[in-house]
Amino acid sequence: MYGVIVCPRCKRAKGVDLDQKTTSCMCGFQIRVRSARIRARAETAREIAPLVGKVSAELAGGSDEYRKAAAPVRPKRSRDPHVRVLGIASKLHDRAGRVRTAAVELTKELEVFSMDDWRRVLEGLGVPRPEEALESLVRANLVAEPKEGFYRAVSLSP
Ligand SMILES: [Zn+2]
Repeated sequence: MYGVIVCPRCKRAKGVDLDQKTTSCMCGFQIRVRSARIRARAETAREIAPLVGKVSAELAGGSDEYRKAAAPVRPKRSRDPHVRVLGIASKLHDRAGRVRTAAVELTKELEVFSMDDWRRVLEGLGVPRPEEALESLVRANLVAEPKEGFYRAVSLSP
């Protein structure tokens, strides 16, 4: 059984094998799986990726349920640019739109973004093989690589 848990330190969602005792978050925090609150469950690792995206979007204030629950107070704008990008990109319904929006929003937030930035956002969106996704945007001339290892969307209009 797999589950989605949220890091108590950086509040990032993460997919884990629930048989593990602990898991380390990207921020370096050791999360105790046994005592963590499980936000979503799935039978296979494959099914867990989209659920991680869903929980991340909820944390970023992207879901309708969250907005209704938070109304009339507007959800706070997250200070983490990756979470903001995730919140915007996860509203798109098709994968191509999400991936393109992720590149545009990352460029707006960071001017140029690295593969690490890209992986964090695409992982949150539940898109597998982020390198390939970026490569195809570069091939389609939607993303440029002005400096080696740094990328930006060519056009910032949607
Ligand atoms: Zn963390």
